[in-house]
Amino acid sequence: MIPAPALAPGIGTGRTPLPVPRRRAPEGPGAVGPEADAGAGAGPVAGGPGVAAISRPSPPPSRLTDRYGRVVRDLRLSITDRCNLRCSYCMPAQGLDWLASPLLLTADEIGRLARIAVTRLGVERIRITGGEPLMRRDLEEIISAIAALRTPDGAVPDIGLTTNGLGLDKRAAALRDAGLARVNVSIDALDRETYAALTRRDRLDDALAGATAAQAAGLAPIKINAVALPGTFDAQAPRLLAECLRRGWQLRFIEHMPLGPSASWSADDVVGAERILAVLADAGFALEEAGRPDRRPAALWRVAPGEHDGAAHPAGSMGIIASVSAPFCADCDRSRITADGRLMTCLFSTTETDLRAPLRSGATDEDIMRLWAAAAWRKPLAHGSDDPGALPSGFERPGRTMSAIGG
Ligand code: SAM
Ligand code: SF4
Repeated sequence: MIPAPALAPGIGTGRTPLPVPRRRAPEGPGAVGPEADAGAGAGPVAGGPGVAAISRPSPPPSRLTDRYGRVVRDLRLSITDRCNLRCSYCMPAQGLDWLASPLLLTADEIGRLARIAVTRLGVERIRITGGEPLMRRDLEEIISAIAALRTPDGAVPDIGLTTNGLGLDKRAAALRDAGLARVNVSIDALDRETYAALTRRDRLDDALAGATAAQAAGLAPIKINAVALPGTFDAQAPRLLAECLRRGWQLRFIEHMPLGPSASWSADDVVGAERILAVLADAGFALEEAGRPDRRPAALWRVAPGEHDGAAHPAGSMGIIASVSAPFCADCDRSRITADGRLMTCLFSTTETDLRAPLRSGATDEDIMRLWAAAAWRKPLAHGSDDPGALPSGFERPGRTMSAIGG
């Protein structure tokens, strides 16, 4: 019942064809045009001097568009670079040099950026991430400030959280009360030793308790993120899928991207969507393609009721985020802000725009909007580049690893 996957050949099986946005915006003044673009992006951090970076005030933009016609509606807000796990694909065993507290955006600063994004720049969805966002004690405060916002149409922004789940059991109800709608919990394996080896911490029970409590608190749907890794995928994936179906969680496999320590990724080792589907089919799962909801990263698959390892599982669905073998850059609608207030228009951006300095030096909302829109205008075509075909590994490697960007 598995149809041939409608996926492009991935890295390891051929050259990755990168998607081209449907239309190219005219090179003239739009919401933001080349005028606002001038002078920025010359170094790794653009917009550093803050308000002074804006030489000629122009009407503030009302949405965030880029040169290829894409419009930002989704904001990923990283609130910390710290983490209590050390996933091998994300950070080195010894951790990283954490940002000093004064460098982190405060809850008020995060709330102000969220307010500008939602009430004035067309952002409809906000996902809080990190590092591990539960490591911030003021997470509830941040969420309730965002939940109080309304889009120009009067809608409540859709607020999600991506977390490793540690400690979520104690905070799920408070987070729901603050206005959190949904949660994604990262669990790569259900075998305790494998989980501990991948995350370098023996905390599987805590992660499962977190996801279970989130479900009990009514945060729905519960999505489980699992990075597809060559050494563990075949053994872990079928068990993980069966258990998620039994618990009513939607599992999403994420292709491994070159965003961790450089030695942790090799193009030839990427477990691509085709392979993911083949392994699950071999394990007896009956899958039917259900398409990719507009502008969402995961392609979905319906799973028929069945049995795995002697135990029945009900019908459900699972997703594949094929960022490597079938990237969704053509309709990417995201903007990212790091925990230290740097705007990144792409996970693989090599340039950043500093919003913290202007926030702390008296910038008006309109100043911030212009900086944000100017950066959005320069969003690269795909994989951090406007000429992705020329990249040796298919990706531009950003200056930060995943936990410091915010996944
Ligand atoms: N700590 C939280 C967590 O693990 O869910 C939030 C931050 S984490 C950086 C966000 C997501 O990025 C997780 O689902 C994680 O599995 C994923 N991730 C981290 N490094 C990755 C990589 N190199 N390739 C693909 N996904 C990655
Ligand atoms: Fe921490 Fe999430 Fe990175 Fe794992 S993936 S080390 S939980 S930030």
